[in-house]
Amino acid sequence: MSNSTAELIRQAIASHPDPETGRPLETMGQIRSVAVDGDIAEIDLALSSHSLPIQEDVKDAIESKVVAAVPGVTPKITINIHERPPVRLGQIALRAKSVIAVGSGKGGVGKSTVAASIALTLSRLGSKVGLLDADVYGPSIPQLLGLSGRPAVNANKKIEPIMLEGKLPVMSMGFLVEPDQAVIWRGPMLHGSINQFLADTNWGELDYLIIDMPPGTGDVALTLSQAIPLAGAVVVCTPQEVALLDAVKAISMFRKVNIPLLGMVENMSGFLCPDNGKTYDIFGQGGARTKSEELNVPFLGCLPIDITLRTAGDEGKLAEVIASNEKARAPFDGVAKAMVREVASQTSQKPNQGSLPVL
Ligand code: ADP
Repeated sequence: MSNSTAELIRQAIASHPDPETGRPLETMGQIRSVAVDGDIAEIDLALSSHSLPIQEDVKDAIESKVVAAVPGVTPKITINIHERPPVRLGQIALRAKSVIAVGSGKGGVGKSTVAASIALTLSRLGSKVGLLDADVYGPSIPQLLGLSGRPAVNANKKIEPIMLEGKLPVMSMGFLVEPDQAVIWRGPMLHGSINQFLADTNWGELDYLIIDMPPGTGDVALTLSQAIPLAGAVVVCTPQEVALLDAVKAISMFRKVNIPLLGMVENMSGFLCPDNGKTYDIFGQGGARTKSEELNVPFLGCLPIDITLRTAGDEGKLAEVIASNEKARAPFDGVAKAMVREVASQTSQKPNQGSLPVL
């Protein structure tokens, strides 16, 4: 096999969309080299850290395209990380590539646990992530992550977020008010505080900003949709019919303010008993999947009731579980990757406009 084989391979993969921009890999300068030696094809690809959570998908897709175009060749794909800095979002000086809202129709379904776990998982898989707790009525992110302290204001008058393990910036109303102080803000004050969290926090450059929304109400969703373009929303629910009805309301709320739906997550979906390994469907199972099909919303996966998660949440050790407990984190890996796939798929249908640096 020869140079012309390398050329055939290049052509076969040229139009594959970059997961971050939705534009063809070739035109974005991301096919670094294709070298053929015997029946081995070495392909070097450049991806940005935004795409790292689904790098295996990219490898698999490229492999299939190569094998289909040149039967008998064995592709060896190397992925190199190159950064493409985020552009300013909207009118706000927030530099994040994908802003994702995590919502629910009602409280107590595990929305904050899912939002925090998605942020922790994307960070573990190599992306730069920030977490904004916009659940101003019941901010539980500081509790779940064991974070406390008052955010400082820096010389540029920006609020310094509290850093989790030195790398994941977190901002929450919980850092600003006493735990027993109920926040009863509505309307303009709520609007102002959310905008301030977005615009006046020193987030740095992010691949993903995950926002834990207050349950139910549309106020914050409306504020967000006016402030910045969102990549989309994830709706968390439990399998019970009543929670599903609430989830339907949450979905129509996001639709009303033109925030795209990335998918539904079914939390507390069956209880895996640690004593006998059997699964018990305490709240039923599968309701969210059926509902998501009815509503034409992607389904991102099920998360079982896991005692490890509940105790970790109570003790502020959710980050430790996601970092080191492979069994407990596996379903969250599935959900986070499915979500990034959906972001990539929606981006490839509507590739990023404007000029973007070639990698
Ligand atoms: P919400 O944000 O919807 O109010 P939280 O994320 O604060 O819900 O979760 C409520 C409680 O349920 C917390 O104690 C949390 O640790 C627990 N929890 C959430 N998801 C699970 C799960 N899959 N397994 C076990 N406990 C969970």
